[in-house]
Amino acid sequence: MGKKSDAPVRSCIGCRSKFPKEELIRFSADENGRVRVDPLYKNPGRGVYLCPEMSCFRQAFKKRGAFNRALRRQVEVPQNPEDLLYETLQAFEKEREGIKKRLKGLREGEGKRLSLSLQRIDKMIERLRLCEE
Ligand SMILES: [Zn+2]
Repeated sequence: MGKKSDAPVRSCIGCRSKFPKEELIRFSADENGRVRVDPLYKNPGRGVYLCPEMSCFRQAFKKRGAFNRALRRQVEVPQNPEDLLYETLQAFEKEREGIKKRLKGLREGEGKRLSLSLQRIDKMIERLRLCEE
């Protein structure tokens, strides 16, 4: 808190606190109404955000229909916060591998944005792994 920034801010549906978007995990609903992790914040439609904290995952699951309300539709979520955390970690790891592959094909100085995404994803994975312990 207290740090001035122009970065877009979003609220976590678990703790309800506001954070720069890039510090939160974005989820959106796919065409079948299934909640999916969106590691690069690019999936269309409404998004719902969570801190990479087990307590926030748990709180979101405690509030009945929190995901439905935030996404303004009926959505399907995993059975429990632990499953969602697991799926989230998997999605971020998959994204990381994809970015690494894409970076390999680039010359030095290219792919600056990709490198930044990779740094952010690495940080997120680190925090999610801590949640798992
Ligand atoms: Zn939170």
